[in-house]
Amino acid sequence: MTQSKLKRGLQTRTVHAEDQITPGFESFSTPVTRASTVVFPDLAAMRALDWKNDAQWRYGLHATPTSLALAQRLAAIEGGKHALLQPSGLSSISNVYFGLVKAGDDVLIPDNVYSPNRDHGDWLARDFGVTVRYYDPLVGAGIAALIQPNTRLIWLEAPGSVTMEVADVPAITAAARARNVITAIDNTWSAGLAFRPFDHGVDISVQALTKYQSGGGDVLMGATITVDRELHLKLKAARMRMGIGVSSDDCSLILRSLPSMQLRFAQHDRAAFGLATWLKSRPEIDAVLHPAFSDCPGHAFFKRDFTGAGGLFSVVFDSRYSAAQIDAFCESLELFSIGWSWGGAHSLVMPYDVASMRTAAQWPHRGTLVRFYIGLEEEADLRADIEQCLAVLA
Ligand SMILES: *Cc1c(COP(=O)(O)O)cnc(C)c1O
Repeated sequence: MTQSKLKRGLQTRTVHAEDQITPGFESFSTPVTRASTVVFPDLAAMRALDWKNDAQWRYGLHATPTSLALAQRLAAIEGGKHALLQPSGLSSISNVYFGLVKAGDDVLIPDNVYSPNRDHGDWLARDFGVTVRYYDPLVGAGIAALIQPNTRLIWLEAPGSVTMEVADVPAITAAARARNVITAIDNTWSAGLAFRPFDHGVDISVQALTKYQSGGGDVLMGATITVDRELHLKLKAARMRMGIGVSSDDCSLILRSLPSMQLRFAQHDRAAFGLATWLKSRPEIDAVLHPAFSDCPGHAFFKRDFTGAGGLFSVVFDSRYSAAQIDAFCESLELFSIGWSWGGAHSLVMPYDVASMRTAAQWPHRGTLVRFYIGLEEEADLRADIEQCLAVLA
């Protein structure tokens, strides 16, 4: 230490530490870099910063080495080139809207979309001068007839995470590209593992990392992933203006879960398929909505474009059961909890009144829909639990 530094007061020395840390510590974990301010070696370096360059550090809100490591890994999983992180899946959806859509623009949304996305679109239509129209998720190439000169963005969700219809994604993206309309898919259901959106012409993939990527039910985060750099920069500019960032601690939790994601997904898939197959044989169930089943709307597209299904599927109970009876069924389950956010180890159940959630496509079922999320418990125990609670209906 120089003589002048030694003369500094104790309080200054606790701030401007002279730590002698040996460099070169190597481990498998990504270090957690917590920072608001990023310091520059000199003013010239600060002034030379280019916000478009993801490799430059500007401010802790925009990126840290921990968050960039996660973003890069997510882009690689999905087959994209660029990724941005937002503090929830819904804020990723919001980032897409505010990055691309302005007053006078038109947006098309599938009728089976994640409900808060629908609510967000309705808000833009009510207060921000955007028009929003809903389309039948099975419209396929027929989307071309819905595209107007001011149509800016088409959302996709395949399958819809409650009703499970699988859209013909390449037919919709081809029609959109022919008219220069941007497409964004909420790809949370497939975790980016079972469906590769950029191979099917999609421009933006949205992931709720809250689900399988976290895998623990204890972190909220989302991502927007693109191949196109200009699109990435549009979303990045909106993200900066909205003051959105993520915590490196949360990023490190997700980085810790990613290596096991594919194995977990495969196990969720196996158990869910087994239980769905068994439920199909039950007299209480009118329909099983699982894209791997041949009677699921859009099954042919699932077979063509997907490599797996994960843990989420729905059933429609026979219409002789009242909504109150179905509620009693859901509440009597012991291993299935009542909750929204799937993707973790714990199984979940949730009843939905689908008819009240739709405006574009007629819902063909009369009975109550119940969505199951199959966690990592023993399949036989989950089946015994459901079986015993089906008796509640009798
Ligand atoms: C959970 C979910 C979201 C939103 O994620 P949050 O992190 O809870 O905001 C978006 N889309 C789908 C399909 C989801 O299941």
